[in-house]
Amino acid sequence: KIVVLDGYTLNPGDLSWERLEKIGECAIYDRSPKDEVISRIGDASIVFTNKTPLTAEIFAACPNIRYVGVLATGYNVVDTVAAKEHGITVTNIPTYGTASVAQFTFALLLEVCHHVGAHDKAVKQGRWQESGDFCFWDYPLIELAGKKMGIIGFGRIGQAVAKIAIAFGMDVLAYDHYADKSLENEHTTIVELDELLAQSDVVSLHCPLFPETEGIINAAALDKMKSSAILINTSRGPLIVEEDLAAALNAGKLHGAAVDVVSTEPVTEENPLFTAKNCLITPHIAWAPIEARQRLLDIAIDNVEAFLEG
Ligand code: NAD
Repeated sequence: KIVVLDGYTLNPGDLSWERLEKIGECAIYDRSPKDEVISRIGDASIVFTNKTPLTAEIFAACPNIRYVGVLATGYNVVDTVAAKEHGITVTNIPTYGTASVAQFTFALLLEVCHHVGAHDKAVKQGRWQESGDFCFWDYPLIELAGKKMGIIGFGRIGQAVAKIAIAFGMDVLAYDHYADKSLENEHTTIVELDELLAQSDVVSLHCPLFPETEGIINAAALDKMKSSAILINTSRGPLIVEEDLAAALNAGKLHGAAVDVVSTEPVTEENPLFTAKNCLITPHIAWAPIEARQRLLDIAIDNVEAFLEG
Protein backbone atom coordinates (compact mmCIF):
# COMPACT_ATOMS: atom_id res chain seq x y z
CA LYS A 1 0.00 0.00 0.00
CA ILE A 2 1.39 3.36 -1.08
CA VAL A 3 0.26 6.81 0.05
CA VAL A 4 1.34 10.06 -1.66
CA LEU A 5 0.47 12.78 0.86
CA ASP A 6 0.96 15.89 -1.25
CA GLY A 7 1.52 15.07 -4.91
CA TYR A 8 0.03 18.27 -6.29
CA THR A 9 3.16 20.45 -6.44
CA LEU A 10 5.12 17.72 -8.18
CA ASN A 11 2.28 16.65 -10.42
CA PRO A 12 -0.52 19.17 -10.95
CA GLY A 13 -1.89 16.84 -13.63
CA ASP A 14 0.72 16.93 -16.37
CA LEU A 15 2.64 13.81 -15.27
CA SER A 16 1.48 10.22 -14.92
CA TRP A 17 1.42 8.24 -11.66
CA GLU A 18 0.91 5.03 -13.70
CA ARG A 19 4.36 3.55 -13.00
CA LEU A 20 3.87 4.01 -9.26
CA GLU A 21 0.35 2.58 -9.46
CA LYS A 22 1.82 -0.62 -10.93
CA ILE A 23 3.94 -1.13 -7.81
CA GLY A 24 1.07 -1.28 -5.36
CA GLU A 25 -2.31 -0.01 -4.29
CA CYS A 26 -1.93 3.79 -4.37
CA ALA A 27 -3.81 6.58 -2.60
CA ILE A 28 -2.63 9.86 -4.11
CA TYR A 29 -3.65 13.12 -2.40
CA ASP A 30 -3.04 16.65 -3.68
CA ARG A 31 -2.40 17.93 -0.15
CA SER A 32 -2.87 16.46 3.33
CA PRO A 33 -3.97 18.58 6.28
CA LYS A 34 -1.94 17.86 9.41
CA ASP A 35 -4.87 16.26 11.25
CA GLU A 36 -5.57 13.80 8.42
CA VAL A 37 -2.05 12.47 7.87
CA ILE A 38 -2.31 9.52 10.29
CA SER A 39 -5.70 8.34 8.99
CA ARG A 40 -4.59 8.70 5.38
CA ILE A 41 -1.42 6.67 5.94
CA GLY A 42 -3.34 4.02 7.91
CA ASP A 43 -1.65 0.66 7.34
CA ALA A 44 0.36 1.73 4.25
CA SER A 45 4.00 0.64 4.13
CA ILE A 46 5.28 3.23 1.61
CA VAL A 47 4.72 6.97 2.08
CA PHE A 48 5.72 9.85 -0.19
CA THR A 49 5.87 13.44 1.03
CA ASN A 50 7.00 16.73 -0.44
CA LYS A 51 6.25 19.27 2.29
CA THR A 52 3.95 17.38 4.69
CA PRO A 53 5.90 16.82 7.94
CA LEU A 54 6.38 13.23 9.09
CA THR A 55 6.94 13.25 12.83
CA ALA A 56 7.79 10.73 15.56
CA GLU A 57 4.10 10.78 16.54
CA ILE A 58 3.07 9.76 13.01
CA PHE A 59 5.65 6.96 12.86
CA ALA A 60 4.43 5.65 16.23
CA ALA A 61 0.79 5.75 15.08
CA CYS A 62 1.48 4.06 11.72
CA PRO A 63 3.69 1.04 12.54
CA ASN A 64 3.42 -0.45 9.03
CA ILE A 65 5.55 2.29 7.42
CA ARG A 66 8.78 0.78 6.05
CA TYR A 67 9.80 3.44 3.54
CA VAL A 68 9.48 7.22 3.18
CA GLY A 69 10.28 8.82 -0.16
CA VAL A 70 10.82 12.57 0.08
CA LEU A 71 9.83 14.15 -3.24
CA ALA A 72 12.46 16.89 -2.92
CA THR A 73 16.12 17.51 -2.25
CA GLY A 74 15.75 18.84 1.29
CA TYR A 75 14.44 16.20 3.71
CA ASN A 76 14.00 18.34 6.83
CA VAL A 77 10.23 17.57 6.74
CA VAL A 78 11.01 14.09 8.07
CA ASP A 79 12.09 13.36 11.64
CA THR A 80 14.93 11.11 10.45
CA VAL A 81 16.01 10.18 13.99
CA ALA A 82 12.51 8.85 14.73
CA ALA A 83 12.38 7.17 11.31
CA LYS A 84 15.62 5.34 12.09
CA GLU A 85 14.29 4.25 15.50
CA HIS A 86 11.30 2.71 13.71
CA GLY A 87 13.55 1.02 11.12
CA ILE A 88 12.15 3.17 8.30
CA THR A 89 14.26 3.86 5.21
CA VAL A 90 14.15 7.52 4.07
CA THR A 91 15.31 8.69 0.65
CA ASN A 92 15.57 12.13 -0.96
CA ILE A 93 16.39 13.24 -4.53
CA PRO A 94 19.35 15.57 -4.75
CA THR A 95 20.12 15.87 -8.46
CA TYR A 96 16.93 16.22 -10.48
CA GLY A 97 16.83 20.02 -10.75
CA THR A 98 20.40 21.19 -11.28
CA ALA A 99 19.90 22.45 -14.85
CA SER A 100 16.49 23.96 -14.03
CA VAL A 101 17.72 25.93 -11.01
CA ALA A 102 20.82 27.14 -12.88
CA GLN A 103 18.65 28.28 -15.80
CA PHE A 104 16.22 30.03 -13.44
CA THR A 105 19.11 31.81 -11.73
CA PHE A 106 19.85 33.40 -15.10
CA ALA A 107 16.15 34.08 -15.75
CA LEU A 108 16.15 36.19 -12.56
CA LEU A 109 19.48 37.84 -13.37
CA LEU A 110 18.44 38.71 -16.92
CA GLU A 111 15.16 40.14 -15.65
CA VAL A 112 17.05 42.44 -13.27
CA CYS A 113 19.34 43.44 -16.16
CA HIS A 114 16.59 43.96 -18.76
CA HIS A 115 13.17 44.33 -17.03
CA VAL A 116 11.59 42.39 -19.88
CA GLY A 117 8.28 41.96 -18.05
CA ALA A 118 7.93 45.67 -17.22
CA HIS A 119 8.86 46.72 -20.77
CA ASP A 120 6.28 44.31 -22.19
CA LYS A 121 3.63 45.73 -19.86
CA ALA A 122 4.54 49.34 -20.82
CA VAL A 123 4.34 48.51 -24.55
CA LYS A 124 0.91 46.90 -24.12
CA GLN A 125 -0.21 50.02 -22.28
CA GLY A 126 0.61 51.94 -25.47
CA ARG A 127 4.01 53.30 -24.36
CA TRP A 128 7.08 52.78 -26.54
CA GLN A 129 10.31 54.00 -24.86
CA GLU A 130 8.20 56.60 -23.06
CA SER A 131 7.86 57.66 -19.47
CA GLY A 132 5.14 56.52 -17.12
CA ASP A 133 5.14 54.50 -13.92
CA PHE A 134 7.87 52.42 -15.57
CA CYS A 135 10.24 54.83 -17.30
CA PHE A 136 12.64 53.40 -19.87
CA TRP A 137 15.53 55.63 -18.85
CA ASP A 138 15.06 55.12 -15.12
CA TYR A 139 15.86 51.44 -15.59
CA PRO A 140 19.08 51.22 -17.57
CA LEU A 141 19.84 47.89 -19.21
CA ILE A 142 22.94 46.06 -18.02
CA GLU A 143 25.39 44.00 -20.11
CA LEU A 144 26.93 40.98 -18.37
CA ALA A 145 29.88 40.23 -20.69
CA GLY A 146 33.17 41.16 -19.01
CA LYS A 147 31.56 41.29 -15.54
CA LYS A 148 32.34 39.09 -12.55
CA MET A 149 29.92 36.42 -11.34
CA GLY A 150 30.37 35.58 -7.65
CA ILE A 151 29.04 32.14 -6.72
CA ILE A 152 28.67 31.24 -3.03
CA GLY A 153 28.45 27.44 -2.73
CA PHE A 154 30.24 25.79 -5.65
CA GLY A 155 28.39 22.46 -5.78
CA ARG A 156 26.18 21.03 -8.51
CA ILE A 157 24.02 24.11 -9.13
CA GLY A 158 26.83 26.61 -8.49
CA GLN A 159 29.00 24.90 -11.12
CA ALA A 160 26.10 24.77 -13.61
CA VAL A 161 25.55 28.52 -13.09
CA ALA A 162 29.27 29.09 -13.65
CA LYS A 163 29.10 27.37 -17.06
CA ILE A 164 26.25 29.65 -18.16
CA ALA A 165 28.02 32.72 -16.78
CA ILE A 166 31.18 31.88 -18.74
CA ALA A 167 29.09 31.41 -21.90
CA PHE A 168 27.82 34.95 -21.30
CA GLY A 169 31.42 36.20 -21.29
CA MET A 170 31.66 36.56 -17.51
CA ASP A 171 34.50 35.52 -15.21
CA VAL A 172 33.58 33.46 -12.18
CA LEU A 173 34.70 33.94 -8.57
CA ALA A 174 33.60 31.00 -6.44
CA TYR A 175 33.55 30.58 -2.67
CA ASP A 176 32.89 27.21 -1.09
CA HIS A 177 33.47 26.07 2.47
CA TYR A 178 35.03 22.92 1.01
CA ALA A 179 36.85 24.71 -1.81
CA ASP A 180 38.10 22.43 -4.56
CA LYS A 181 40.95 24.16 -6.37
CA SER A 182 40.78 21.58 -9.18
CA LEU A 183 37.57 23.33 -10.30
CA GLU A 184 39.56 26.44 -11.23
CA ASN A 185 40.03 27.20 -14.93
CA GLU A 186 40.83 30.09 -17.26
CA HIS A 187 37.59 31.86 -16.27
CA THR A 188 37.03 30.49 -12.75
CA THR A 189 38.92 31.37 -9.56
CA ILE A 190 38.23 30.02 -6.08
CA VAL A 191 38.43 32.90 -3.59
CA GLU A 192 37.60 33.76 0.01
CA LEU A 193 34.14 35.13 0.74
CA ASP A 194 35.27 38.71 1.41
CA GLU A 195 37.12 38.90 -1.91
CA LEU A 196 34.09 37.51 -3.74
CA LEU A 197 31.78 40.08 -2.13
CA ALA A 198 34.11 42.99 -2.88
CA GLN A 199 34.85 42.10 -6.51
CA SER A 200 31.68 40.58 -7.90
CA ASP A 201 29.17 42.40 -10.11
CA VAL A 202 26.66 39.62 -9.47
CA VAL A 203 26.52 37.53 -6.29
CA SER A 204 24.49 34.32 -6.53
CA LEU A 205 23.74 32.03 -3.58
CA HIS A 206 24.01 28.25 -4.04
CA CYS A 207 25.08 26.92 -0.64
CA PRO A 208 22.68 24.90 1.53
CA LEU A 209 20.98 26.38 4.56
CA PHE A 210 23.06 25.34 7.57
CA PRO A 211 23.48 27.12 10.92
CA GLU A 212 26.78 28.51 9.60
CA THR A 213 25.27 29.80 6.33
CA GLU A 214 22.11 31.32 7.85
CA GLY A 215 22.36 35.10 7.40
CA ILE A 216 25.56 34.79 5.31
CA ILE A 217 24.29 37.88 3.47
CA ASN A 218 23.83 40.40 6.28
CA ALA A 219 24.53 44.14 6.64
CA ALA A 220 28.29 43.53 7.01
CA ALA A 221 28.41 41.40 3.85
CA LEU A 222 26.26 43.88 1.91
CA ASP A 223 28.59 46.72 2.96
CA LYS A 224 31.45 44.85 1.27
CA MET A 225 29.58 44.58 -2.05
CA LYS A 226 29.73 47.06 -4.93
CA SER A 227 26.81 49.51 -5.01
CA SER A 228 26.32 48.44 -8.65
CA ALA A 229 26.06 44.75 -7.71
CA ILE A 230 23.09 42.44 -8.17
CA LEU A 231 22.21 39.72 -5.64
CA ILE A 232 20.40 36.53 -6.68
CA ASN A 233 19.06 33.86 -4.30
CA THR A 234 17.66 30.60 -5.65
CA SER A 235 18.89 28.58 -2.66
CA ARG A 236 17.13 29.21 0.66
CA GLY A 237 15.53 32.38 2.07
CA PRO A 238 17.24 32.48 5.48
CA LEU A 239 20.67 32.77 3.83
CA ILE A 240 19.78 36.47 3.61
CA VAL A 241 18.94 38.83 6.48
CA GLU A 242 15.99 40.32 4.61
CA GLU A 243 15.78 43.54 6.67
CA ASP A 244 19.45 44.24 5.84
CA LEU A 245 18.97 43.54 2.13
CA ALA A 246 15.85 45.73 1.93
CA ALA A 247 17.69 48.56 3.72
CA ALA A 248 20.66 48.28 1.31
CA LEU A 249 18.38 48.28 -1.75
CA ASN A 250 16.31 51.21 -0.52
CA ALA A 251 19.46 53.21 0.31
CA GLY A 252 20.92 52.53 -3.16
CA LYS A 253 23.82 50.56 -1.66
CA LEU A 254 23.04 47.70 -4.05
CA HIS A 255 21.70 47.89 -7.62
CA GLY A 256 19.08 45.16 -7.40
CA ALA A 257 18.13 41.73 -6.14
CA ALA A 258 15.99 38.79 -7.21
CA VAL A 259 14.97 35.95 -4.93
CA ASP A 260 13.06 32.72 -5.58
CA VAL A 261 13.05 31.89 -1.88
CA VAL A 262 12.25 33.91 1.24
CA SER A 263 12.61 33.35 4.97
CA THR A 264 8.92 32.50 5.43
CA GLU A 265 7.02 31.00 2.50
CA PRO A 266 4.56 31.95 1.14
CA VAL A 267 5.84 35.53 1.34
CA THR A 268 3.63 38.14 3.03
CA GLU A 269 3.46 41.91 2.63
CA GLU A 270 5.26 42.19 5.98
CA ASN A 271 8.42 40.82 4.38
CA PRO A 272 10.69 43.87 3.91
CA LEU A 273 11.70 42.61 0.45
CA PHE A 274 8.07 42.84 -0.69
CA THR A 275 8.35 46.60 -1.13
CA ALA A 276 12.13 46.99 -1.42
CA LYS A 277 13.46 48.95 -4.38
CA ASN A 278 14.39 46.91 -7.47
CA CYS A 279 13.74 43.56 -5.83
CA LEU A 280 12.05 40.72 -7.73
CA ILE A 281 10.40 37.83 -5.89
CA THR A 282 9.27 34.55 -7.47
CA PRO A 283 7.37 31.79 -5.60
CA HIS A 284 10.06 29.09 -5.13
CA ILE A 285 9.65 27.72 -8.64
CA ALA A 286 13.24 27.38 -9.86
CA TRP A 287 12.95 23.59 -9.55
CA ALA A 288 9.64 23.22 -11.35
CA PRO A 289 9.99 22.83 -15.15
CA ILE A 290 8.17 19.71 -16.32
CA GLU A 291 11.44 18.04 -17.32
CA ALA A 292 12.78 18.38 -13.76
CA ARG A 293 9.51 17.22 -12.18
CA GLN A 294 9.41 14.18 -14.50
CA ARG A 295 13.01 13.39 -13.52
CA LEU A 296 12.08 13.76 -9.85
CA LEU A 297 9.14 11.38 -10.22
CA ASP A 298 11.21 8.85 -12.19
CA ILE A 299 13.99 8.85 -9.58
CA ALA A 300 11.43 8.59 -6.74
CA ILE A 301 9.98 5.46 -8.35
CA ASP A 302 13.46 4.03 -9.14
CA ASN A 303 14.28 4.50 -5.44
CA VAL A 304 11.18 2.70 -4.19
CA GLU A 305 11.75 -0.14 -6.65
CA ALA A 306 15.35 -0.46 -5.46
CA PHE A 307 14.08 -0.53 -1.87
CA LEU A 308 11.55 -3.26 -2.66
CA GLU A 309 14.26 -5.27 -4.42
CA GLY A 310 16.28 -5.04 -1.21
P1 NAD B 1 25.30 20.77 -3.57
O1 NAD B 1 25.34 20.01 -2.28
O2 NAD B 1 25.74 20.10 -4.82
O3 NAD B 1 26.19 22.11 -3.41
C1 NAD B 1 26.21 22.90 -2.27
C2 NAD B 1 27.64 23.43 -2.10
O4 NAD B 1 27.64 24.32 -0.98
C3 NAD B 1 28.68 22.33 -1.83
O5 NAD B 1 29.76 22.43 -2.73
C4 NAD B 1 29.13 22.61 -0.40
O6 NAD B 1 30.51 22.33 -0.19
C5 NAD B 1 28.87 24.11 -0.30
N1 NAD B 1 28.80 24.57 1.07
C6 NAD B 1 28.44 23.89 2.19
N2 NAD B 1 28.59 24.67 3.28
C7 NAD B 1 29.03 25.85 2.84
C8 NAD B 1 29.37 27.07 3.50
N3 NAD B 1 29.29 27.17 4.83
N4 NAD B 1 29.80 28.10 2.73
C9 NAD B 1 29.92 27.97 1.39
N5 NAD B 1 29.63 26.85 0.72
C10 NAD B 1 29.18 25.81 1.43
O7 NAD B 1 23.82 21.32 -3.68
P2 NAD B 1 23.08 21.83 -5.02
O8 NAD B 1 22.39 20.69 -5.67
O9 NAD B 1 24.03 22.66 -5.80
O10 NAD B 1 21.94 22.75 -4.36
C11 NAD B 1 22.29 23.97 -3.71
C12 NAD B 1 21.06 24.51 -3.00
O11 NAD B 1 20.07 24.90 -3.95
C13 NAD B 1 20.31 23.49 -2.12
O12 NAD B 1 20.89 23.40 -0.84
C14 NAD B 1 18.92 24.05 -2.06
O13 NAD B 1 18.81 24.89 -0.92
C15 NAD B 1 18.82 24.93 -3.30
N6 NAD B 1 17.77 24.47 -4.22
C16 NAD B 1 16.78 25.34 -4.55
C17 NAD B 1 15.77 24.97 -5.44
C18 NAD B 1 14.68 25.94 -5.85
O14 NAD B 1 13.66 25.51 -6.42
N7 NAD B 1 14.81 27.23 -5.62
C19 NAD B 1 15.78 23.67 -5.98
C20 NAD B 1 16.82 22.79 -5.65
C21 NAD B 1 17.82 23.20 -4.76
